[in-house]
Amino acid sequence: MCDDHSSKTDVIIVGTGAAGIFCALNLPDTLSVHMITKDTLENSASYLAQGGIAAMKDAEDYDDYFEDTLRAGHYENSRKAVDTMIRQSPMIIQDLLAYHVNFDRAGEELSRTKEGGHSQSRILHHDDITGKEITSKLLSGLRKKKNIIIDEYTRMVDLVEENNVCRGVVIVDREGCPSVIHGKVVVLATGGIGGLFKHSTAFAHITGDALAIASNHHIQLKDINYIQIHPTALYSPKPGRRFLISEAVRGEGAYLLNAAMERFTDELQPRDIVTTAIRDQMKKDAKEYVYLSLTHLDPDTVRTRFPNIYKHCLKEGYDLTKEPIPVTPAQHYFMGGIEVDLKGRTSMKNLYAIGETSCTGVHGKNRLGSNSLLESLVFAERAAMEIAQSIPYTPIEEMPVDLSAYKGRDFDAEYRSVVLDEIKRRDRDFYEQWIGNDDHIG
Ligand SMILES: Cc1cc2nc3c(=O)[nH]c(=O)nc-3n(C[C@H](O)[C@H](O)[C@H](O)COP(=O)(O)OP(=O)(O)OC[C@H]3O[C@@H](n4cnc5c(N)ncnc54)[C@H](O)[C@@H]3O)c2cc1C
Repeated sequence: MCDDHSSKTDVIIVGTGAAGIFCALNLPDTLSVHMITKDTLENSASYLAQGGIAAMKDAEDYDDYFEDTLRAGHYENSRKAVDTMIRQSPMIIQDLLAYHVNFDRAGEELSRTKEGGHSQSRILHHDDITGKEITSKLLSGLRKKKNIIIDEYTRMVDLVEENNVCRGVVIVDREGCPSVIHGKVVVLATGGIGGLFKHSTAFAHITGDALAIASNHHIQLKDINYIQIHPTALYSPKPGRRFLISEAVRGEGAYLLNAAMERFTDELQPRDIVTTAIRDQMKKDAKEYVYLSLTHLDPDTVRTRFPNIYKHCLKEGYDLTKEPIPVTPAQHYFMGGIEVDLKGRTSMKNLYAIGETSCTGVHGKNRLGSNSLLESLVFAERAAMEIAQSIPYTPIEEMPVDLSAYKGRDFDAEYRSVVLDEIKRRDRDFYEQWIGNDDHIG
């Protein structure tokens, strides 16, 4: 039996990845904030990020960084958004250091590495678990805030809307019982769409719910067929999330090898180009994978630079320092999303979107590696500033909602078909290549 109940708060943040948390941290303590997540706090793509976070090295790096981001994005990026992200990047790193994020250092200096598509070493990292280091430190900051409450295993299933003004969200708990959170402002920070694919590096519960809900409310979406396939996930014949072999591994000099153990492409090209090269090679070899080899690199460097990847591969039966590992492309990142301006505002009043579920236009057609954590943080902070300035002073309005309409529904199936049908409508080729075969759908 479900008890119909509702609550109210100034700001509702849906999603507790890096974007949601950083937005909450940047809101004034005078606002009440209610955060919800569909799963546990730790189960977000933000926790999984391995390689690092890109940031402009110094003023001379601006032009190269701008060009690298645009080249990777096939020049379809929003130049304004890229400019905003790059200029704000040094401040974001200072913010993270203030939250005690422990980036690797070379002596006193922050150590910076390269990844495919970057012409300069500008990526900050913490071993190969940068996302966990950043997100857990931000979460520690969040836990100290008295104005913020967080509910786990709580799923947003709809927006409460009146004449294109957002007034709250409908949620369901673990038992499927619906209720309403009324709010002055809603921030969607629900991440990507990996859970819609059988072969993805992301968590299965991250299924693009916000996109389906936005589409149902006629909120503007952008480029939702721009979906990045990561070239190198550890191949396994078993179903489930694929373990990512970070781009940084190729950045450190790993080789891609075909079945005859020969190199077949330049490993440091942007990821869509490397993905195509791998797919072509798999077809030629008639295999479901190619190999990635680090055996020519110093074993101690491999173990110390990639301890997490090293340990995981060992668990799967491969010693990275002694043998090549099988790798295959897998869905990894979502460049499109809910269309937003540079302050995270969507086409619905009082509704914001940040992080992977939003589309600022920063990535264009293809994301440059390590730009997504940065984008999430830059635009989460900007959205928080805008909310602080514009949140209405008037009391929270409680709109009546018929909760019986949310009982007993299969939201997974409903929302999956809304998102996948829209992707198919916009890009049949992509759909047929990566989704069309039932085998790809989780
Ligand atoms: C394996 C892997 C490695 C990566 N490595 C890097 C890297 O090295 N550098 C980099 O810059 N980027 C990397 N990325 C990408 C980057 O991690 C993400 O783009 C970024 O963290 C997205 O943050 P987010 O806060 O938008 O979403 P997420 O961190 O995915 O958080 C989404 C949140 O929304 C919640 N949610 C979803 N739907 C609902 C709903 N209906 N109701 C309630 N809650 C909901 C989820 O539970 C979760 O809390 C990587 C991604 C993966 C998967």
